[in-house]
Amino acid sequence: MSTVVELPASLEWEVCYGELIFDPDGPSIEVGAEVRLSGIAKRMQEELVFDLFELIESFHNPGLYHPMNCICGFPDHARINKPAHVQHPCSETIVWEVEAQAWSGVLDNERLGSVALLKWVFEREGYRRAINAMQSELVSHCKHLRPDVYRRYCARKQYNDDVPRIDTLTVEHLQPVTDNDTLERLYQLPEAKN
Ligand SMILES: [Zn+2]
Repeated sequence: MSTVVELPASLEWEVCYGELIFDPDGPSIEVGAEVRLSGIAKRMQEELVFDLFELIESFHNPGLYHPMNCICGFPDHARINKPAHVQHPCSETIVWEVEAQAWSGVLDNERLGSVALLKWVFEREGYRRAINAMQSELVSHCKHLRPDVYRRYCARKQYNDDVPRIDTLTVEHLQPVTDNDTLERLYQLPEAKN
């Protein structure tokens, strides 16, 4: 295998709620930005979320990152076995280069099964705008949970009437839950500039 494939890409996501937590202090829920990215298998959509903090870092500095992750914060759980090599080849482009084999658990293998190296190629300004929009949207949802998004989550999980009412829920974590402070870190980010 020696094929290198470049996929023009843009950061697209859908804010979703997940992982209801039943605590003696009251129920809580997690919030995340599910990945909608060309080349990712559809079946992974409910498990993969963007890591906003990694995206922000990767905008500023090339390096090794986990720009998307399992909702629980362990990439190998989603069978992402190596980080993405984020490159800034010119002032207008950001590239994520991954070894397809190490990412085969999440890739659309029907389309990319014979690929060795996959490069997602983003336009830098679009990447910046997407990160800012994602930050604003996540903050907004974490501060005010929305009934339509909560209903979709309950329907997906086939939860019925005995789910907690949305006005009793607090947000416990921002996904991926890489540590216990993801929500605090979201709120501490400098205000998004659009
Ligand atoms: Zn997981």
